[in-house]
Amino acid sequence: MKLHPQTALVHAERKAPQWINTIQPPIYRASTIIFNDTTALFDRHWTDPYDYSYGTHGTPSTFTLGDNIAQIEGGEYCLLCPSGLSAINLVNACFLATGDEVWVADNIYGPNMEHLRNLESRYGIIVKVYNAIDINSFQPTEKAKLLWLEAAGSVTLEFPNLINLVKKAKANNILTALDNTWGAGLAFNAFDFSQEHLTVDMTVHALTKYPSGGGDILMGSVVTRDQALHHKLFRAHAIQGIAISGDDAAQVQRSLASMQLRYEKQSQSAIKILQWLKTQDAFAQVLHPADPDNISHAFWKETCQNEQSAGLVSVIFKAEYDMTAIRKFCDHLKLFKLGFSWGGPVSLVMLYNLNDMRHLEHSHLQKGLLVRFCIGLEDADDLIEDIENGLKALLG
Ligand SMILES: *Cc1c(COP(=O)(O)O)cnc(C)c1O
Repeated sequence: MKLHPQTALVHAERKAPQWINTIQPPIYRASTIIFNDTTALFDRHWTDPYDYSYGTHGTPSTFTLGDNIAQIEGGEYCLLCPSGLSAINLVNACFLATGDEVWVADNIYGPNMEHLRNLESRYGIIVKVYNAIDINSFQPTEKAKLLWLEAAGSVTLEFPNLINLVKKAKANNILTALDNTWGAGLAFNAFDFSQEHLTVDMTVHALTKYPSGGGDILMGSVVTRDQALHHKLFRAHAIQGIAISGDDAAQVQRSLASMQLRYEKQSQSAIKILQWLKTQDAFAQVLHPADPDNISHAFWKETCQNEQSAGLVSVIFKAEYDMTAIRKFCDHLKLFKLGFSWGGPVSLVMLYNLNDMRHLEHSHLQKGLLVRFCIGLEDADDLIEDIENGLKALLG
């Protein structure tokens, strides 16, 4: 057929030859995926992992990234979401219905708690809060459907009694979902941990943090090992129209090769900084599960056998330092930028008032305002000097 120039333009194509190979996989951008013929159209089935049927259901770019994330975390199947919080939302939307009980740790990622409270008031889901380091505070009833875990928990960084919590959930037939952002699949394997080879049912991971590593891409994942669970999640993902762009997938894909190196470096820097912070007078408490003085140290040690941890350290200032003083300290920092999130190249600082954040007694924590440091890829000695200068401004 002889085509007019406009038509030729629309139909122009240059196919890559079979032999071409590149370090990074090609980027697919798709809403429409073109079927070869009507047989291909009618023969497709959503449970087939090569069922490419529409952009929201996945492209080679998203499937490749998902397979890699599942592999890093020790799982089998992965669904990608536009943020970590939307991955959390997918799990809640998929497994909770009116009258169901969901258990969340008091130190769970704050917006998850907020999201569940919203489900509670709108849909009659029953939200129960437990203390991650006290197994007796987890007392599920027969309505309990889902247990949220986070290791280590947000901001105060207690490492949970993961082994006993998972055992108790299993004994009660409760699904377990672990927010795996802190461990990133590197500090421990959520699908095979402890000597008894325990496994959680699913993990969510804010790929925004270590997998992206740039502080620039938002993404989340839900990983499972169980095909039936994955299929349930897949349907919920599809009907909610959750999708990510091929370009974002390619950016995260590109960062994965360096993730373990970055994680180790930030883990080591955090330990060095932690040791220095412990020598400082201004702090009532330094919070990090690898610290032998930490209340949850034994839980961390029995789970994170390679002795790794994310690059996060929190401090509680002595109670004499009020909000004005803490703000002065944070504003004085030069290398630590004031911002949410973590896992990127630039170190970050954030300030919190725990009294607004915790539902249960937290007698293991000193009274005082909390500052969280997220360690980036700078030299740890420079970061220590930055904090030292901030403290001088506070005291001077
Ligand atoms: C950042 C974070 C999330 C949410 O990820 P976003 O991509 O920012 O929505 C969830 N859980 C934890 C533990 C996080 O740190």
